[in-house]
Amino acid sequence: MRRTVPIRPLILLLMLLVAGSAQGGAALELAGRLTQGGLLIGRVAPGARVRLDGDTVRVAPDGRFVIGFGRDAPPAHMIEVTQPDGGIERHRLEVALRQYRIERVDGLPEKTVTLPPEYRARRARETSMVRKARAIISDRLDWEQGFILPARGRISGVYGSQRILNGKPRWPHYGLDVAAPTGTPVVAPAGGIVRLAEPDFLLEGGILVIDHGFGVSSTLMHLSRIDVAVGEEVKKGQQVGAIGATGRATGPHVDWRINWRAVRLDPGLVVDLPAGAGTRQTEAR
Ligand SMILES: [Zn+2]
Repeated sequence: MRRTVPIRPLILLLMLLVAGSAQGGAALELAGRLTQGGLLIGRVAPGARVRLDGDTVRVAPDGRFVIGFGRDAPPAHMIEVTQPDGGIERHRLEVALRQYRIERVDGLPEKTVTLPPEYRARRARETSMVRKARAIISDRLDWEQGFILPARGRISGVYGSQRILNGKPRWPHYGLDVAAPTGTPVVAPAGGIVRLAEPDFLLEGGILVIDHGFGVSSTLMHLSRIDVAVGEEVKKGQQVGAIGATGRATGPHVDWRINWRAVRLDPGLVVDLPAGAGTRQTEAR
């Protein structure tokens, strides 16, 4: 069964209560949107260990952790909590499925659809730099503090949408686009450490990757200016650059991505978007 998630749903708070746990309280709490693209913050007893679908999840000393589900995540998942006393509890999670906007465009000149071969080596190098920056799992806790939009402007593109050009499905759009004039300040959506700062990537243009800890990162793209350097610590709301139309962009905007490790999450689910935002499909991808 497919279910469309409304643009601005209520925050879903899940409290999974397990009878007979040590203090009689919740053995596992999860807050966030249990849906494709969703980021969830969990809590277990200090000292407990957590696995999601068999993979170990990093847990802070106070029992907090973060998980996320990708654009096309299947509905059924399992969280396993190993209590400090060795007892194991399993919790089934049902992730809500979403429907994404699909747009077909035909009759385009072929060279605008396929990356020219002379760019492939450069593209591979840049992709690997982004992947490495996002793969860093630090013990920062900036993800606990929530997120803000990286710029003021019009929401011109949303997560999950996909174009089919000349019959070829393109890589889906994983970002939240905020369009505003070139030079508009871009701020850090949450605190962290800058892991990548490059002025001129082929598709992304000026790009920043900020590590918020526990594998959660923000990527900011198409920047006309970058004001921070790799290794620098940034605060939530601090200006890190400016909006531009660098790389493959049809107009000035910032494309904001959120990752949990390699999983691409929906930034639109962790900020309060203006009503009606994202209902118009973007021209700026
Ligand atoms: Zn975009």
